[in-house]
Parts: sequence; C-alpha cells; structure tokens
Amino acid sequence: MELSRKEALAIYLSAALFVASVASAAEIRAQHEHWRKGCPGEVQIDEQGIRFIPQTSGAKAHLWEWSWQDVQRLELSADRIVVVTYDDVRWRLGADRAVRFRAATGHDFLGAYQLVRDRGDVRLVAKVADRREPALWEIPVKRLGRTQGSHGRLRAGPKRLIYESLSDNKSMTWKYTQIQNLSSLGADRLVLTTSLGQSVFQLKAPLDQTRYDELWRKIQGAQGLSAPPIVHGEETGR
Ligand SMILES: [Zn+2]
Repeated sequence: MELSRKEALAIYLSAALFVASVASAAEIRAQHEHWRKGCPGEVQIDEQGIRFIPQTSGAKAHLWEWSWQDVQRLELSADRIVVVTYDDVRWRLGADRAVRFRAATGHDFLGAYQLVRDRGDVRLVAKVADRREPALWEIPVKRLGRTQGSHGRLRAGPKRLIYESLSDNKSMTWKYTQIQNLSSLGADRLVLTTSLGQSVFQLKAPLDQTRYDELWRKIQGAQGLSAPPIVHGEETGR
C-alpha cells in the first residue's frame, strides 16, 4: 500500500516535472536555410521569444534573436519554421523579412507548437493538426489546392478549426479568432477566409445545418461581433 502510494507520487512528480519542462522552453536542432545550403545550429523557443544559436561561432555566424513582439508571424509546420519580422528587405521595397529554419533529420517542431499554441502574443500560423483540441465533430474533406488538392478531415473544436491532412505538411489549425469569414459555396463547399487568404474545402459528407450555423457563430463571436439570429437562406451581410 505504502509502496504504491510512493510510486503514485513518483509518477505524479515526474509527470509534473515533464509538464513544467515542456511548458517553458524547447530546443530543436535545425538548419538556418540559405540560398544553397544551411548553417546548422539550434532553434530555441521560450516565453521571451525565439532565437537561433549557430553551431559555429565567428564573425560570419548567423545568430538570430527575436522577442515575440518583433515577430509579425510565426509559420510553424512539423519540419519548418518561418519567422516573418517587421524588418524591410532593403532590396525588395516593402517586403517583410522572412527567416527560415528547417528541423534537422529526426527532429521536429511539434513540441515547440505546444509551447506557443495558447499564447495570445504569438501570431501563429499553425501548419500542423492540433491534437489537444477536443473534437465536437469532424467530416471527411478534400482541401482544394491551386495545382493539387489534399485529402483529410475537418475537425471543429471549442476554440479551433483543424484540417488534419493525410498528406505530409498539408495540415492546418486555425483559432476561431484567426478566421475572418466562413461561407458555403454551393451545397458541398466551405470557404474559409483568413488574413493570409482563402481555403476551400470540398465536403465528402454533408455538413449538418446546425453544425454549420454553430461554426459560423463561433467565428463571428471570435471576431467580437454579436451573432444575429440566423435566418436560413438569408445573406449574412458581412
Ligand atoms: Zn545561416
């Protein structure tokens, strides 16, 4: 009895320590991507921001460091991170500077995603399927692409809409606050609009009207708009 209680405590403590270590910082072996080849190092992500510590030191070594307020957008997929800053690229008028990092073989940024998924001060573009969000419902879909679509499932949670793709690096997770509009296109298409563009989903199973309305209200609610009572067949008037 005593032993099992000690064991339980040990398990509890190690779990708590694990959560604490996961929740504070992540260090991922990665490459800073260049035109031809990358320079190896480590991407570090914590509460203050994101930095890249190169493996080699010296005057020409690429050391990067941003606090979260200086990151205009953090695009995160399993194997890649793109930091878009507010700095201009001098030789391209008005273009924002984007710095890219690729995870080293056998490493990924999925743990880093867990660190930033709930932060309000990180403007995250999550190119991963969130696994912690409880699913209210999901339907099989095809996401239409410019050249080639991908297949997967569209999953609605309390705070997020998730596209979990069967193809590598095609998944997405949007917080409802990031979705500007949702509309239907014909009977079997959903159009999602964010500040970065539109995503069109072809529904492989019918989406119940109640669920569509609920989703629409969540998105409007997240935009800070009070949801008017929905009259079926009427324009939403946005
Ligand atoms: Zn470099």
